[in-house]
Amino acid sequence: MAFAKIHTDLPGPKSVKILEKQGSVARAFGTFVPSIVDYAKGARVWDLDGNVFLDMAGGVGCLNVGHSHPKVVQTIQREAERFTHTDFTVIPYESYIELADRLCRMMPGEERKRAAFFNSGTEAVENAIKIARKATGKRGIICFEGAFHGRTMLSLSLTSKVKPYKEKMGPFFNDIYRIPYPNPYRWMGTNDPEEVSEQAIEALLNLFITQIPPSEVAALIIEPIQGEAGFITPPASYLKALQKICNETGIIFIADEVQTGYGRTGEFLGSHYFGIEPDIITLGKSIAGGLPLSAVIGRKSIMDTAGDGAVGGTFVGNPISCAAGLAVLDIYEEEKLGEKAQQIGNQIFEKVRAMKDKSTLIGDIRGAGAMLAFELVRDHDTLEPADTETLEIIQKCLKKGVILFKAGLYNNVIRFLVPLVISEKELEEALDIIEESVMEVTENFYSNRLSMAGV
Ligand code: PLP
Repeated sequence: MAFAKIHTDLPGPKSVKILEKQGSVARAFGTFVPSIVDYAKGARVWDLDGNVFLDMAGGVGCLNVGHSHPKVVQTIQREAERFTHTDFTVIPYESYIELADRLCRMMPGEERKRAAFFNSGTEAVENAIKIARKATGKRGIICFEGAFHGRTMLSLSLTSKVKPYKEKMGPFFNDIYRIPYPNPYRWMGTNDPEEVSEQAIEALLNLFITQIPPSEVAALIIEPIQGEAGFITPPASYLKALQKICNETGIIFIADEVQTGYGRTGEFLGSHYFGIEPDIITLGKSIAGGLPLSAVIGRKSIMDTAGDGAVGGTFVGNPISCAAGLAVLDIYEEEKLGEKAQQIGNQIFEKVRAMKDKSTLIGDIRGAGAMLAFELVRDHDTLEPADTETLEIIQKCLKKGVILFKAGLYNNVIRFLVPLVISEKELEEALDIIEESVMEVTENFYSNRLSMAGV
């Protein structure tokens, strides 16, 4: 059975009619799929012209429980009938308190936790930094090359990609110190994960000598697996070594789990996957089944220092989003989405590994659980990024009804952020389409190379 069905040009006539008015939308919001969505269910999206797509992007990782999960939809409908907003600081509501309680209990580590909710990942990051500064009374923040923490000004200062994010957006915040993220595939001099880990730790220790003493650092913020940078997966020992240094020096260890959270890695958090116990964790994206919500969850002793009114905002912890957040946690448990992520990851990994044997464009496959990606290079020695080829594969897939998303500092990584409720058959079909497209682009690449060489 074919799940994906494309029976018009993209966009089809009904989408075109709507898109005619697109001139009023700010250009900062360029779109990827050219058609207008009609409705979406699970891992499939229908456009206005009846075309059906298999969705491997999941609203950029916001739909771990799938599009319009019936439990999430019923919760939203029920809660919208009751009330839509009070501002928790004016009149509190149960869903905020209940969600905070459940999430705090799911965090790693013995010390009691407290949670605060916000609207977006970037807001969670900014507030985590504010709380860490207030708790320590210190100024310095350590972050990483390749990091993505959001687009508002403090988060953007931590984010590490010039185009399209940082170019002409400065000046940025002071007291931000950046060290290399251990990326075994592109590390200079060695690809051995343990050597890479040791050298990356050395870079941190060196920072304490050359730039700022640990006694002046408030926090270190890291993605357990770097998301936008292309699912860069650190060596197994690295995060634990980093946490040890933070603990010994009094630096608050923040794990930004906006993309790695909610079962994506096969565990509820990337922190569970790597066996670390961060002082503060930020969550977002899949937390409320597609509604805007994010969280900062940290050790009680740290969170309590912020004080009344120090962090917050008009819409933060919206009641409908918090109720949807509770439905998401129920679904996560009932449908065993962590285990499901592992099965999805195995299915993707097997297929991409077989593709790698046939296509020399695939240089690296990496990730954890369903958080898998593959990097495309033109040359396995120079690692020249195959960025145009990556785009060609994505566009070919789209025309055949598979929505794929790219990542990477060099725009040459294809990442899977598929809803974790996808069926094995749906995924099999999507992977077959991806394989076909990768092979078409690989063949074109070689025939172009041969014709350039005059063969
Ligand atoms: N942190 C991480 C790790 C992310 O992946 C993202 C978004 O992709 C953010 C923060 C920012 O989240 P938002 O776009 O909701 O502000």
